[in-house]
Amino acid sequence: MDFSIPDDLQQLRDAVRDFVLKEVIPLENQIEAEDRVPGALLEKMQEMGLFGVTIPAEYGGLGIGPFGYTLISEEIGKAHGAIRALIGISNGIGSKALVKYGTEQQKQHYLPKMASGGFITSFAISEPGAGSDVAAIKTLAVRDGEHYVLNGNKHFITNAPYADVITVVAVTSKESRTSERMSVFLVEPDAPGFSLGRTQETMGGKGYGRCEINFEDCRIPAANLLGDEGRGFQVAMSCLEEGRISYAAACTGLAQRLLEMSTDYARQRVQFGRPIAEFQAIQFMLAEMATSIYAARMMTRHAAWKCERQVKCAQEASMAKLFASETAGQVADSAVQIHGAMGYARDYAVERLYREARLFRIAEGTSEIQKIVIAKNVLQEE
Ligand SMILES: Cc1cc2nc3c(=O)[nH]c(=O)nc-3n(C[C@H](O)[C@H](O)[C@H](O)COP(=O)(O)OP(=O)(O)OC[C@H]3O[C@@H](n4cnc5c(N)ncnc54)[C@H](O)[C@@H]3O)c2cc1C
Repeated sequence: MDFSIPDDLQQLRDAVRDFVLKEVIPLENQIEAEDRVPGALLEKMQEMGLFGVTIPAEYGGLGIGPFGYTLISEEIGKAHGAIRALIGISNGIGSKALVKYGTEQQKQHYLPKMASGGFITSFAISEPGAGSDVAAIKTLAVRDGEHYVLNGNKHFITNAPYADVITVVAVTSKESRTSERMSVFLVEPDAPGFSLGRTQETMGGKGYGRCEINFEDCRIPAANLLGDEGRGFQVAMSCLEEGRISYAAACTGLAQRLLEMSTDYARQRVQFGRPIAEFQAIQFMLAEMATSIYAARMMTRHAAWKCERQVKCAQEASMAKLFASETAGQVADSAVQIHGAMGYARDYAVERLYREARLFRIAEGTSEIQKIVIAKNVLQEE
């Protein structure tokens, strides 16, 4: 294993770190209050190429592989959740299926717009009756000449309220077994029969939107099928698998930010005539936070290193996602404890980051689902 970072990647990582620290974090309260990302920040993210970090260079992206992307994703993980959602989805599940399985024509049409940030992306698989159990999705796509006609509902679709293109997983053959039942489509919101449903308010997640989406005899061109008909389950799973690694990196970034905030606070908060950092109880919390973060980072980089070499890494990706998301939760909890009442107060970022961290164990495959994947692999090993 070689985790050394090439100079150009190091420069980009440092630039993203600086951007988050100096330009995003100072505007976090504004993002919360206005429930939107300021235009100037979006423009800066576009200028830096952040929407297309993983998109191949021939389509206008930076063409950075899985290992390099974990470094960027860790820095983005320190930013407000709205930034993470925009950048994470554009570089992950919003574009991944297209990069891996799109036709040349589809790639030429969509990828440059996604890479520039001109097109906001979204990925729709979850339905009211199908969350962890992806095989239970019911949204149906029926071929009708040169079109497919979609009927069904999705929910909790991040970025959907303003997405320019949504990668949608739907059933194309009800009778087939799971591995051949679904297909993936690119749907633009101006398609007839497409509509946005209820906005879904959540515990965290100000500054970016998620909502239900509805398909009522929604007609899309047959050319918008992504990959072969009936291969949708594999397409979706392979995108989600790779996405777990960058998701784990973002969890690590958020945890690192909380550790730094907690360390600073412990140094300056005085009780019983001494900084609380001098109490062993606080030191032990900081030590446990730092150790878990280090382990999460190494697991994530190892999974990414394997993925970059196209070595099978489903097991490591699930382990990294499980461990890093649980770490973010535990670190957030300790951060609140170290900050005392200030950790519970709305006017301090720790309280919001604690709520944001809670999502990580649910989205993109819950902790329980990661454990099911891991245990299955363990039991299959000799
Ligand atoms: C803020 C937010 C944004 C989201 N964005 C998107 C998005 O952009 N696109 C999208 O498609 N979806 C999105 N989702 C949905 C997300 O992917 C699902 O919430 C997630 O997959 C879990 O599904 P569920 O909520 O239906 O929980 P369920 O599947 O109903 O699970 C409920 C509980 O049961 C457990 N459980 C389920 N099955 C088993 C089992 N076999 N063994 C043991 N335990 C089990 C789960 O781990 C969980 O603890 C988002 C969700 C949120 C909250």
